[in-house]
Amino acid sequence: MTRAPEACIALRVTPPPPALRLDIDSAALVANWRWLAARGGGVACGAAVKANGYGLGAHEVVSRLAAAGARDFYVATWGEAAALGDWSAGLGLSVLHGIRAEDLPFALAHPARPVLNTPAMVKLWRDAADGRPCDVMIDTGMNRLGLTPEEALSGLLDGLAIDTLMSHLACADEPEHPLNERQLASFQTCKAQIPARRYSLANSAGLCLGPRYAFDLARPGLGLYGGVAGPAADGAMAQVVRPHAQVVQVRDVPAGATIGYGATFTAPAPMRVAILNLGYADGYLRAFGGGVGGASAGGSACPLVGRVSMDLIAMDVSRAGGVGDGDWLAIDFDLAKAARDTGLSQYELLTGLGHRYLRRWT
Ligand SMILES: *Cc1c(COP(=O)(O)O)cnc(C)c1O
Repeated sequence: MTRAPEACIALRVTPPPPALRLDIDSAALVANWRWLAARGGGVACGAAVKANGYGLGAHEVVSRLAAAGARDFYVATWGEAAALGDWSAGLGLSVLHGIRAEDLPFALAHPARPVLNTPAMVKLWRDAADGRPCDVMIDTGMNRLGLTPEEALSGLLDGLAIDTLMSHLACADEPEHPLNERQLASFQTCKAQIPARRYSLANSAGLCLGPRYAFDLARPGLGLYGGVAGPAADGAMAQVVRPHAQVVQVRDVPAGATIGYGATFTAPAPMRVAILNLGYADGYLRAFGGGVGGASAGGSACPLVGRVSMDLIAMDVSRAGGVGDGDWLAIDFDLAKAARDTGLSQYELLTGLGHRYLRRWT
């Protein structure tokens, strides 16, 4: 039976804007890239834009950093490469997870290079790619992705057109960790024996370990987006992401009343509370709450009270006179502080931000 035409109403009006917004600061992003690039002492500096540019928008990050001079970009998968759309011939793109057989048709049609991580990937690329360049990952001690140094030095890579030979540091955010020097030494051994156009070891935290770790090309991610990737970056990164949420309702809460699920917060005195359009479904997880988290309105601090709901939070606006329904509050989102206070990582705070925000680049 066909559906009656009147059962479906075509909406021809534009949906209203969301009551939730990320202000994303292009100048801060570029300043962080320049600061990280300077740590490398002049070697090339790319950008990790996996996970949709750590939640900010990979396409927007690439265009801004390319304009600033970045030439090498990193995504996790071919799906992420595809999401970037037409790829500029002047820029390099590497796919960190490498290739599976089912990736090959797309990979061969796309200018991006796979990062080969296993002997099987090496064989797949060698047999299919007709000498096209690739990148190769060596696992120098993290035991995540990559060929072991023994595999890499066994002749497996002979004749392969390697653009970038890379490895990844496990503990670079802890400068004194002994694994850093061990991984550096292992990578140098591989470098001495495996020909490649370029060599790359450092992520954001690796760059903060100094130019010995920089080789030809660095691959920062976190620091670009305002994250503090180690002691050397403390106080040096500019905040890039600022969430703002709109007030759905302001209410007066009498002394002794409780706020939110579980009634975990009891008003010690009469309070004015703003209910905001933001919740754990927006990556503002329940690790906030219990004295952690807040916002500001007109320069006044508005602490979070009660539990975070899926789509709502409550902020104490008693001291921020005049907050009303429909006003916007700036959510506290200093990444390093939020990570310390919540126990979440700066990476989780960024990549969890989700799809309900309007992303407004300035
Ligand atoms: C994610 C990633 C990076 C970037 O790391 P940050 O810690 O965000 O700077 C660099 N290289 C590889 C292989 C990665 O997976």
